[in-house]
Amino acid sequence: MQIDILTIFPDMFDGPFSHSIIKRAKEKGIITINLHNIRDYTTDKHHSVDDYPYGGGAGMVMMIEPVCRLIENLKAKTSYDEIIYMSPDGELLGQKLANRLSLLKNMIILCGHYKGIDERIREHLVTMEISIGDYVLSGGELAAAVLTDTIVRIIPGAMGDEASALSDSYQDDLISPPVYTRPYDFNGWKAPDVLLSGNEKEINKWRNEKSIERTKQRRPRLLDD
Ligand code: SAH
Repeated sequence: MQIDILTIFPDMFDGPFSHSIIKRAKEKGIITINLHNIRDYTTDKHHSVDDYPYGGGAGMVMMIEPVCRLIENLKAKTSYDEIIYMSPDGELLGQKLANRLSLLKNMIILCGHYKGIDERIREHLVTMEISIGDYVLSGGELAAAVLTDTIVRIIPGAMGDEASALSDSYQDDLISPPVYTRPYDFNGWKAPDVLLSGNEKEINKWRNEKSIERTKQRRPRLLDD
């Protein structure tokens, strides 16, 4: 999978993309992430990427030209399945959407800033808009990192133990059961005996019951779906 991220702050991705599963997926060649600085695609001498909003009011708006030039440049070399704009009013990111996107080959993720991007970019260039929640961030970078992480970790081969991704919360519309490790007894707080019983059938039964119990308590809507 190739992910091209369009941003005015490429350095913001240094942390999230250089550790753990994403780092390993890059090293294994499972994904290629290219960071593109929108500012490199300006033509004026100040390298402006934003301007005052038509109609007045607070905040700046990201201009269409550099974003369009960058997208056209990328499209000349690669065919993209989706051009995604991170936006607080986009489709809410959930596990099902992440699963679907993990099957794509190439995608662009566009990060906005300030008051957002010129609406014509959304109308004519973007194919999909995704929100990571009903709140507003300062920019699309953190949202793009969240989206990338949730997609990449479920691509076959990205995780060490593939079964692990499938048993996480929201796969199969269930919340994960609680997990424990050594020591068995910590200051009198004991791990459930069944997990140490070695009886796989009983362990699976216990995990399944806990999963359903947690889902009922914490995300009952999943059971309705
Ligand atoms: N004026 C806009 C908010 C702009 S926030 C509004 O009220 O809807 C600046 C940028 O941050 C956006 O262009 C978007 O790319 C990103 N962003 C903010 N909140 C986000 C969220 N919840 N999900 C995804 N991207 C978000």
